[in-house]
Amino acid sequence: MSDLADLSIAEARDGLRKGDFSAVDLTNAAIYRAAVTESHLHAYLTLDQEGARDAARKADADLADGVDHGPLQGIPLAVKDNMTTRGIETTAGSKILSGYVPPYNATIIDKLHDGGAVLMGKTNLDEFAMGSSTENSAFGPTRNPWNTDRVPGGSSGGSAAAVSVGSAFGAFGSDTGGSIRQPASLCGLVGVKPTYGLVSRYGLIAFASSLDQIGPFARSVRDAATLLESVAGFDIRDATSYRGERPAISSHLDAGVKGMKIGIVAELTGEGIDAEVNDACRAMYNKLSDAGAELVEMSLPATEYALSAYYLIAPAEASANLARFDGVRYGLRVDGETTEDMMSKTRAEGFGPEVIRRILLGTYALSAGYYDAFYGQAQKVRTLLRNDFASAYEKVDALVSPTSPTTAFAIGEKTADPLSMYLSDVCTIASNLGGDPSGSVPIGLDGDGLPIGFQVMAPALHEAQLFRLAAEVERLAGFDARPALATSEVKPA
Ligand code: GLN
Repeated sequence: MSDLADLSIAEARDGLRKGDFSAVDLTNAAIYRAAVTESHLHAYLTLDQEGARDAARKADADLADGVDHGPLQGIPLAVKDNMTTRGIETTAGSKILSGYVPPYNATIIDKLHDGGAVLMGKTNLDEFAMGSSTENSAFGPTRNPWNTDRVPGGSSGGSAAAVSVGSAFGAFGSDTGGSIRQPASLCGLVGVKPTYGLVSRYGLIAFASSLDQIGPFARSVRDAATLLESVAGFDIRDATSYRGERPAISSHLDAGVKGMKIGIVAELTGEGIDAEVNDACRAMYNKLSDAGAELVEMSLPATEYALSAYYLIAPAEASANLARFDGVRYGLRVDGETTEDMMSKTRAEGFGPEVIRRILLGTYALSAGYYDAFYGQAQKVRTLLRNDFASAYEKVDALVSPTSPTTAFAIGEKTADPLSMYLSDVCTIASNLGGDPSGSVPIGLDGDGLPIGFQVMAPALHEAQLFRLAAEVERLAGFDARPALATSEVKPA
């Protein structure tokens, strides 16, 4: 039996306008899907059923009055719980923000409201978006809808699980080193990290400000483009917001890849990548070449050092950004003898082990005497990497690689070994350091029935190019599998 919760955003938008169903019907379908799957998955930290139904009724009333707010009107969406929502608790997956109800909306939330979207709720994440499995959430892990013994990836694992299972039609996450693309890959979704500055970060709880970007999760490339188009654009409240004209995004979805020059990143294929993932990607390179693209292997030597540079730069920025959580301004406070004692106790109790590890690492890397050796050196690597990308894009229109070195791994498999967890982002981190757009498209399943993702990358502000290639990869892969949990027959655990 087909279910409204399984429609694409494009189908839902058209059906709404034809009067086949209402926004309330769509919202009830997503709420029902959440009701039967949440006990298996824990994708949401806050499910705002009442708010969602109110927004749906408003969307229906507007449509009935002929007021059209665009393609997201009446569509149930979810956002990662590190984006502030006025009147709705926002925790960033941390105990230190437990109970924090922001007095203001992130720009992206205002844009979604203006577009008439229905906000289903706030999704689970690794604490302050630090992690690759959503196991670092202070509120317990999210599970992968394809196999609930596996992780959904992270840090935006809740958003990925919700879209994959159908308790949201689309979602937004944030990506600092791979947190949209890697969970998209592990959950069989399209996920996109736009060009740095294209989507406002105002109201996104900062992890590493020079790397953080908000982007969409969707079940198709077209839907991902629609989501991104609805939230991109200059914002006076974000000092790093891109001021130029908003680039085209969905203008070339049907253009195909004939004549396109595509570079396969040599450093991101082969060693360290699962054989099944490599094979699936290699098959896609061949299909792209059969479809008329010119594929060449390219070396971007600095990518080899990207992970090391990232794990100095990101913690350094995090150590500064997280200084504001001091027991005075937000959320948790643990009393102490003096103000310093109160702050120290609050932070010791409020932050989880991974966050504390990053603050220590970052503080150390920035300390006098070590600054040049660690932070300064990492920034030089970042420049080398940007140069590598720039010279690659003089020769090719786009770059490709696997998204994640493995498919979804088991819950608990990597929690005891942070370094093996960090390696999950070995393919995704470079484009955060470079600031260019990149995305993941599902291309098949491995022998265990788990999704494999294919990474596409393009030069800054060439989103149209990125989506053009992604759309062709999607067509060539013909991936239309859904997880077993995505059915109205599932019973709550
Ligand atoms: N997994 C990486 C980290 O732990 C990236 C996280 C992210 O993109 N937010 O830092």
